[in-house]
Amino acid sequence: MSVVDRQEWDVVVVGAGGAGLRAAIEARERGARTAVICKSLFGKAHTVMAEGGIAAAMGNVNAGDNWQVHFRDTMRGGKFLNQWRMAELHAQEAPDRVWELETWGALFDRTKDGRISQRNFGGHEYPRLAHVGDRTGLELIRTLQQKIVSLQQEDKKETGDYESRLKVFQECTVTRVLKDTASASGAAPGRVSGVFCYDRESGRFFVLEAPSVVIATGGIGKSFKVTSNSWEYTGDGHALALLAGAPLLNMEFVQFHPTGMVWPPSVKGILVTESVRGDGGVLQNSEGKRFMFDYIPDVFKEKYAESEEEGDRWYEDPDNNRRPPELLPRDEVARAINAEVKAGRGSPHGGVFLDVSNRMPAEVIRRRLPSMYHQFKELADVDITAEAMEVGPTCHYVMGGIAVESDTAAARGVPGLFAAGEVAGGMHGSNRLGGNSLSDLLVFGRRAGLHAAQYAAGLAEGRPAVDDVEVDAAAAEALRPFSAEEGPQAGAEAGRPPENPYTLHQELQQTMNDLVGIIRREAEMEAALQKLAELRVRARRAGVEGHRQFNPGWHLALDLRNMLLVSECVARAALERTESRGGHTREDHPTMEREWRRLNLLCRLTDPTGELAATDPVRGQIRLARETTEPIRPDLLALFEKEELVKYLAEEELYE
Ligand code: FAD
Repeated sequence: MSVVDRQEWDVVVVGAGGAGLRAAIEARERGARTAVICKSLFGKAHTVMAEGGIAAAMGNVNAGDNWQVHFRDTMRGGKFLNQWRMAELHAQEAPDRVWELETWGALFDRTKDGRISQRNFGGHEYPRLAHVGDRTGLELIRTLQQKIVSLQQEDKKETGDYESRLKVFQECTVTRVLKDTASASGAAPGRVSGVFCYDRESGRFFVLEAPSVVIATGGIGKSFKVTSNSWEYTGDGHALALLAGAPLLNMEFVQFHPTGMVWPPSVKGILVTESVRGDGGVLQNSEGKRFMFDYIPDVFKEKYAESEEEGDRWYEDPDNNRRPPELLPRDEVARAINAEVKAGRGSPHGGVFLDVSNRMPAEVIRRRLPSMYHQFKELADVDITAEAMEVGPTCHYVMGGIAVESDTAAARGVPGLFAAGEVAGGMHGSNRLGGNSLSDLLVFGRRAGLHAAQYAAGLAEGRPAVDDVEVDAAAAEALRPFSAEEGPQAGAEAGRPPENPYTLHQELQQTMNDLVGIIRREAEMEAALQKLAELRVRARRAGVEGHRQFNPGWHLALDLRNMLLVSECVARAALERTESRGGHTREDHPTMEREWRRLNLLCRLTDPTGELAATDPVRGQIRLARETTEPIRPDLLALFEKEELVKYLAEEELYE
């Protein structure tokens, strides 16, 4: 039996971004002793990078806005595949979550009459994004951290210990969710019992025991070569849930943000916020044409301007004009840019032009878009107040994720497991609207923390026990890269040299980018699955040198398991869904099919040890199942015109 430190908590939150911190605050406030664990420095989560704002129907800039309109926009953006109950809760609760942030010390930009200012964003009918310049995520995280510190100060006063009820373990990675077994607890097996972790600096293993675990680890972008995501986004939470027995939902839906930097190569993929278009930026091809007018799909025809003149007038008079097509949902704009480049009308470095310089005076651009101004000035030597940016699609967000119960954020099928934030699936359907992530983090982070605390407090059968056998297995798995030198003793792999984790990662990113990217084809996805199978076998020999003290090669070798699992989910689900919808575009099935609206795709692990996949690589580790979606509640359907519903819903649904 291995000797690893163990600590007991009621709730463990994996991830310290917006979702994780909001969950931790709620769990602690509900009386649960709560631990937060994150693989980056505390305060350095991906949420910090969020730029444009947080969507909430507060109606501060246009009084016509309300939760029903926000709900409608979200469902339209997701092409009606959203878990409608999540979209409803999100639209209803987002304004309260924004107000709550202000009571905790956040300070959003103001309107002239002192209200929280709200800006336009793609797919939102009214100005809806509360913002702090283009650094909204930073303010959000700063405020949540401050709230955590204030709770710790309360605890110090009461117990003499800052960390008695709320403790942060930073720069520590979770590699396994542990579950109790019949032998360990005597109760029904399969409940969550804690997490297995390692400290990145010392390499030391430890276990946090807890009956409730909230996964809030964010996205998967680092499986793709061109991405706006940071190093943390290796799909850990998705993989942890799969390995614990929970299904992933609709993993084929990956959002390619239309505007990432394309030049210079070292910064390719870094995000150019949608606020640039929200504040009047126009997209042009190499012929100087504002091409988005050619790409308004039928389902959106009545809602977008027909001419440049009307689009321009909308900025001054939104009540009497329609919005410009630069503000279509992201999937539409990304596909349009892709098509322009493919048709030979791209910019010199393979993107298109995005120009805000003619819309506002230089000092207003610098004030409203300070990060963008500095980003282009410093990284590309481009002055966006005087010239156009070059931009192109970049892998940005995953709509698919852990399948959860809408109200409680409980992961399906694993008692004690919860999920919130980008790692959870369903809320955004096939395509997320900008700004709807930050609000999602707060709404469902809070709900996850609440229900995790209630679950822990209400355990009738006693606390689940951590099984030593599981801990030993997790430790052995984590140590395997150090013994890859020896390699397998028998079989086809015997005697082969160890693999370099960096090489494997690069090959994975190239595969996903080229074969399961923005436009997908059957033969390419089949080729991707073959390549993933090969990489999976090779990854079992991923070897590292040195020791466990801060060893990034070792960390990457461990992350590879997660990226490979998640990539297989994306590729298998994308191959299965023979239609185009939101963030999933099939060249061989270019239209959106009403029959597919009723179908979710669930990925489950068939081969938890990876042994079968190693001997029969093509078979893979993931099994797909189709599931019929729950019918949308009639009072929510009544928010739409029948003519609109006809475009999305299947015949029987309309009849019902
Ligand atoms: P994160 O904030 O990424 O937090 C994940 C946490 O999990 C981190 O603390 C990480 O260290 C931890 N973690 C991961 N794996 C492990 C592990 N194995 N063990 C322990 N800890 C782990 N959305 C909007 O709504 N509005 C915007 O304006 C906006 N702008 C954006 C700009 C950029 C450049 C990007 C990239 C995204 C933007 N988004 C925006 C999207 C939004 O920022 C993210 O979807 C959101 O922040 C995700 O939050 P989260 O809490 O789910 O995860």
